[in-house]
Amino acid sequence: MTTCSHVHASSPTAQAIATALSVAEAKCIAQGERWTPPRRRTYELLLQAGAPVKAYDLLSDYAAEGEPPAKPPTIYRALDFLLAHDLVHRIESLNAFLACTADGAHFAEFLICDCCGGVEELALGIGGPAAAAASHRGFTAVRTVLEVHGICAACA
Ligand SMILES: [Zn+2]
Ligand SMILES: [Zn+2]
Ligand SMILES: [Zn+2]
Repeated sequence: MTTCSHVHASSPTAQAIATALSVAEAKCIAQGERWTPPRRRTYELLLQAGAPVKAYDLLSDYAAEGEPPAKPPTIYRALDFLLAHDLVHRIESLNAFLACTADGAHFAEFLICDCCGGVEELALGIGGPAAAAASHRGFTAVRTVLEVHGICAACA
C-alpha cells in the first residue's frame, strides 16, 4: 500500500501472516464461531496489506488468487464479523479497514501517516476517561475514536 518513496520497515512476512491466521482461527473457534473462507480470506488480505484498505479494494483483490469473485455482501459480512471480534479496525477518517493482531484490549486510537498511509495502533485507553467525563454529563458513551494524522518517523 506504500505509495511514497521513503524507506519503511518491511511488510509482514508470510510466516507472520500464517501465524496471525491460525491465532485468529483458534480465537474464533474458542468463541464458538465459524472461521469461514470469506472471513479467512478477508483477514488475510488485510494482513498482507499491513495498512488500511478500503472495502472496494478488498473486493478486487479477493478474486486475484483464482478464487470465485466475491460479492460485496460477502466482504461486508466478513468485515462485520472481523470488526466484532477485534480482528479488524475501521479507520473512520479513511473509510478503510486495518487488520489487528494485538492481544487484549483494543482501542480505536491510531497514528495515521498522511505520506505513506501507514497506521500505528496506540493503546492509550483514552476512551476510558472520555466515557467517564461523558457519564458525568449524563451522556452514555458508546464508542470513542482517536485518529491522529501526521507524518511518521520513516517519512519525516
Ligand atoms: Zn487492535
Ligand atoms: Zn509514513
Ligand atoms: Zn513517506
